[in-house]
Amino acid sequence: MSEGHKHGPECKEVFALLSQYLDHELPEADCAEIDRHMAGCEPCIAFLNSLRRTVELCHGYAPVEQPAPLDAAVKQRLLDTYRRMVAARDAR
Ligand SMILES: [Zn+2]
Repeated sequence: MSEGHKHGPECKEVFALLSQYLDHELPEADCAEIDRHMAGCEPCIAFLNSLRRTVELCHGYAPVEQPAPLDAAVKQRLLDTYRRMVAARDAR
């Protein structure tokens, strides 16, 4: 019997944390923990591939030129852009 990676509860935890990734509410320590798990779990890696940008943000990949965190104004701007896109779509 080969003792491989235990795919189960741990993955669920990681998935749960991913939503926090998106909200930028994940402490660096948890980031490292997820990173560890991802290193040995292909399904999770595949899943995370689509969220890679967010992960990079989480790891502080952002250039020094943009030290400011996401503040309310920026968030609203993003929402505004999103709304526009949706509106344009509905207009068709
Ligand atoms: Zn996993």
